[in-house]
Amino acid sequence: MRTAEAYVESLRARKLRLFVDGELCDSPVDHPKVRPAVNAVAATYALAHDPAHRALATSHSGLIGRPVNRFTALFREREDLLRKLEFQRVLGRLTGTCFQRCVGLDGLNALWVATHGRPEARSRFDAWLRGVQERDEMLNGAMTDAKGDRSKRPPEQPDHYVRVVERRADGVVIRGAKIHQTGAANAHQILVMPGQALREGEEDFAIACAMPVDAPGVTMVLGRQPSDDRRGGPDAGNARFGGQECVVLFDDVFVPNDLVFLDGDLEACSTLVNTFAGYHRASYGGCKPGNLDVLIGAADLVTRENGVRKASHVRDKLVQMAHLTETIHGLGVGASAKGTLHPSGVWVVDPILANVCKHHVTSLPYEIVRLAEDLAGGAMATLPSIADLDHPELGDALRTVAGTEERAKALRLVESLTYGAGSVPFRIECMHGAGSPQAQRVVLERTIDWDAKVKRARVLAGIDTDHELGDELDA
Ligand SMILES: Cc1cc2nc3c(=O)[nH]c(=O)nc-3n(C[C@H](O)[C@H](O)[C@H](O)COP(=O)(O)OP(=O)(O)OC[C@H]3O[C@@H](n4cnc5c(N)ncnc54)[C@H](O)[C@@H]3O)c2cc1C
Repeated sequence: MRTAEAYVESLRARKLRLFVDGELCDSPVDHPKVRPAVNAVAATYALAHDPAHRALATSHSGLIGRPVNRFTALFREREDLLRKLEFQRVLGRLTGTCFQRCVGLDGLNALWVATHGRPEARSRFDAWLRGVQERDEMLNGAMTDAKGDRSKRPPEQPDHYVRVVERRADGVVIRGAKIHQTGAANAHQILVMPGQALREGEEDFAIACAMPVDAPGVTMVLGRQPSDDRRGGPDAGNARFGGQECVVLFDDVFVPNDLVFLDGDLEACSTLVNTFAGYHRASYGGCKPGNLDVLIGAADLVTRENGVRKASHVRDKLVQMAHLTETIHGLGVGASAKGTLHPSGVWVVDPILANVCKHHVTSLPYEIVRLAEDLAGGAMATLPSIADLDHPELGDALRTVAGTEERAKALRLVESLTYGAGSVPFRIECMHGAGSPQAQRVVLERTIDWDAKVKRARVLAGIDTDHELGDELDA
C-alpha cells in the first residue's frame, strides 16, 4: 500500500491538464489552492501505515489476496460498512474537511452490485478493480452531469450530459462534462457513472467506464471557494487541509473496451445509481460528524478563550451541538448495521435509514453552525488578519483588543467551517452532496411500506382481525 509520501509523488507523474483561475497549472500538487486538498487525501494513505488506525484504514482483498486501503475495498462483511463509517469519522475529525475518496469507494461497490449477473461487464470491472487495488489508486467518482434545464430529459439537451458519441470495435468515445467533482485533480483515475436512472431511448447516456485523469481529451477546472485565496496563509482557518471540487470536461475521450463496464444497459445503470445513492447517503453519517467534531471543538475553544465556557447556556449549546452530531452518526451506523448481503457478495445498506441519515445532514449541521456562530461572537466576521496581530507596531495594541493569537486562530477555524473555504466541502456538501433533500424524500416515499402501516392500524382500530398476534392475548 502507498504511503502518504508515495501518493503525493505519484501525482507528480501525471500529465494533468488542470486550470486554476484561468491559467493552466504546471504543478497542481504544489499550487496553494490545491495542496491542502492533496494533504487531506494523503491522510487516507497515511493512516493505512499507522498502527493505531491500520485496522480501520485497511481491509483484506479477496481479489488480490492481500490487505488494501479501505478506500479501494469491497464491503465483504457487514462490519466493513461499519468500519468504513468509523474510518470516515476519524478522517473527518483529523482533517476537518472532505478527504475526497468516498464517492470512488461507494461507486466501485455499487458497480460490483450492478455488474452482478453480467459476466462480460463483471470480468472487465473485476480486472480493473484488481489494478486499482494493486496500485492503491485514488478515484474521482464522476456522476453528476451539468443537467441544464432540469425539466428536460438528456436527449433533449445532450450537451448537458456525458454520453457516448461514437462506438468503435475497440472502444467508445465520450463527450460532455461532470460537475462538482470532489478531489478530481488529486486522483489517479476517473470512474465515470451515469448521474440518474435512464429510460428507453437514452442508452447513449447509460455509460459507466474508467480512464486515467490525464487521458487525452480530459480537462479539469478547479472550483472556486469563498476565502480560497487565504489557503496556505495564516488566516486559512484550517491550517493544513482543505477540500476540492472541479469541473471535468470530456472532449471526445476514447475509452478502450476493457475500461467500459456498462454501455446502454439501462437496468444495470438504474441498479448502479440506486445502490450508490444508498451507500453515499450513509457515508455522510461518518465524514460529517467527524467535521462537526472539529467545529464543536473550535467553538468550545473560543468559549474557553472568552471565559464563558462554564455558563449554563454555553454548556447547553455545546451539548446540543454534540447531540445533533451523534444523531447523524447514529443513523449512518444504523443504516450500516441493518445492511443486507447482496447476491453479488457485497453488503448493501438499509435504504430507509441511509436516506434518513442524509436527509438529517441537509438540516442538522445548519443548526449546529448557527450554535457555533452564536458561541463564537461577532469577531469571527470582523477580526483583522493574524498578520496584523503579529505586526511589530500594531501587535500589542491589537492583541489587547482582539485577544490572543490562539483565540484568533480558533475564530478563523469557525469562520472557515461556517462560511469560508471549509464550508464548501462541509456545509454546501451537507445540503447537496449525495443528492439535494428532495432526492431523499422521493426514495423514502418509494421505499416505505405504507400499506403495512395501514394494515396494522386497521387491525388495532378493530376493523380487521389480528392474524399476526391472534386472540390468545385476550384469553
Ligand atoms: C461540495 C459538493 C461535492 C460533490 N461531490 C461530487 C462528486 O464527487 N461526484 C459527483 O458526481 N457529484 C458530486 N456532487 C454533486 C451532488 O451529487 C449534486 O450537487 C446533487 O446531486 C444536486 O445536484 P445539483 O447540484 O445539480 O442541484 P440540482 O439538482 O439542480 O438541485 C437544486 C434544486 O433544484 C431541485 N430540482 C432539481 N431537479 C428538479 C426537477 N426536475 N424538478 C423539480 N426540482 C428539481 C432540487 O430538489 C433542489 O432543490 C457534489 C456536490 C457538492 C455541493
